[in-house]
Amino acid sequence: MNLVLLGAPGAGKGTQAKFIAKKYNTPHISTGDMLRAAIADKTMLGIKAKGYMDKGELVPDEVVVGIVKERLLEEDCKMGFILDGFPRTVFQADALKKALAGEGKKLGLVLNVEVSEDELIKRLTGRRSCKECGKVYHIIFNPPKNGDVCDVCGGELYQRDDDTVETVNNRLKVYREQTLPLIDYYRKEGLLKNVDGVKPVADVERSVIAVLEEAR
Ligand SMILES: [Zn+2]
Repeated sequence: MNLVLLGAPGAGKGTQAKFIAKKYNTPHISTGDMLRAAIADKTMLGIKAKGYMDKGELVPDEVVVGIVKERLLEEDCKMGFILDGFPRTVFQADALKKALAGEGKKLGLVLNVEVSEDELIKRLTGRRSCKECGKVYHIIFNPPKNGDVCDVCGGELYQRDDDTVETVNNRLKVYREQTLPLIDYYRKEGLLKNVDGVKPVADVERSVIAVLEEAR
């Protein structure tokens, strides 16, 4: 399956992408993870990307498109892929369509995880990540057992630069202006399916499976 997951920051599309990837044994391609890895390794790309991400802005189209195109050419994507965090603009969606067409492929489905903006703000600003192992906690929904220490590895928990209130508001603004038009774009292409992302994770997973099974 060639799948794209859409959803505002905090909608839980990353969680769903991981779930689908495991269940259907398909590579999960998260541009956020790829960019954060580049930032941690202090590559040229990472240094460039960090400036945009810290401000809640999108990394420029040409940078992200290049990374994704390269990734999609790898062996493990031959039988399918799950894109998470890409495309984020109509320009990127067009670039993806062309890149896939060039290889005789196309998207099979676009899953949109829907969550209200109030809920998104509550979710995003409460997020804490482990510095050591990367595990993600939430001060309301999934708090660590001991203050600001990771349950798994004892590492220190921190708030990502792009999860502060100011940056979250900016990310949601950028989402409304640049990513929301993708919903219409994919609806017109006949690829869009909506899933209610406010329910408990297990219920969202069930809805996701139902949609995927229907599309297969
Ligand atoms: Zn940890």
